[in-house]
Amino acid sequence: MKIDTKLVHGCRGFEPNTGAISFPIYQSATFRHPGPNQSTGYDYTRVKNPTREELENTLACLETGGHGFAFSSGMAAVATVMELFSHGDHIIVSDDLYGGTYRLFEEIGRKHGLEFTYSDTTDLRSVKESLKKNTKGIFIETPSNPMMKVTDIKGIIEIARNQGALSIIDNTFLTPLYQRPLELGADIVLHSGTKYLGGHNDTLAGFIVVDNGVLAEKIQLIQKSVGAILAPFDSWLILRGIKTLSVRMERLQTNALKIANWLKDCKDVEKVFYVGLPGHEGYEISKSQASGFGGMISFRVKSIESIERILSRVRIIAFAESLGGVESLITYPIAQTHTAIPKEMREKLGVDEKLLRLSVGIESAEDLILDLEQAMNG
Ligand SMILES: *Cc1c(COP(=O)(O)O)cnc(C)c1O
Repeated sequence: MKIDTKLVHGCRGFEPNTGAISFPIYQSATFRHPGPNQSTGYDYTRVKNPTREELENTLACLETGGHGFAFSSGMAAVATVMELFSHGDHIIVSDDLYGGTYRLFEEIGRKHGLEFTYSDTTDLRSVKESLKKNTKGIFIETPSNPMMKVTDIKGIIEIARNQGALSIIDNTFLTPLYQRPLELGADIVLHSGTKYLGGHNDTLAGFIVVDNGVLAEKIQLIQKSVGAILAPFDSWLILRGIKTLSVRMERLQTNALKIANWLKDCKDVEKVFYVGLPGHEGYEISKSQASGFGGMISFRVKSIESIERILSRVRIIAFAESLGGVESLITYPIAQTHTAIPKEMREKLGVDEKLLRLSVGIESAEDLILDLEQAMNG
């Protein structure tokens, strides 16, 4: 079955008892047992809930892994993956990544005795040089946030395998529609479901998908013990969002390409970072491992005054953090999503005071361009 069909129908596509096409919201914390030592298969919602289960199976099916897990946020999913590691373990991490993930590693992971090296994972040599005896994981984001750097997923998987370390891929930006790391051999795929999977800027969610049964058992134990699970209603919202993922992605990608091309010729803009532009450094690798480029664009303006002007004058595009929804959002990474990253590290990457990040929505591209134009020029 093609992924476009899987997206619409989900794992089962309907509820077998009633035939309900929209999978019901099982808003129940607990479940009656028929008798001693008997269970319907559901005991308590922290452990298993039918609505969440349908969503978890849907994610597993989309990422072509055997096991999906849904969490209350993307960060809860990342934190769960970190529980797989022990005191003294070393993890190599993409140097350009979501600020909240960096904060979790530095503020919480380090406290638990984990060691992190931030490496330019687009350069496999630099990743190999960062390996240590105790390296137990390689964590990448590709394309990365906000510099849109593309990492060779297969190359990373090979390095991780040779080391006996887990390869972990945050697949938030491209979604299983465009990129499926498990098919390339990755151990763990992560998502902030808050973004494209939900798609409407209304629900927080996070996911882990794995294919390995032993790994799945460990994650399930952490999920039910820690309890950062996704609620039944939120599970339903994400299930509904996923149904339109394919049409949303197609539209916003078309919009993104038009906007990136317009920005490229804009007199106030110094540089545009969009993976779908043939001049982008990661364009070729992206084409070899993903079937789409997505809708995230970063751009550097020539003057700070432009930042002030754009952020205070955009009308259709909202100045807000987050991404992946039907509404276009513009973000100022140094003041919003990446405040946790130290200045020297940010500047080395290019995340500076002149960089803006645009999450392109499904509005008319023409209106979005007009909005940016009036904001820049007044
Ligand atoms: C937003 C985001 C996260 C965190 O997810 P939340 O749902 O906000 O907790 C992690 N990784 C990436 C790439 C993100 O964009």
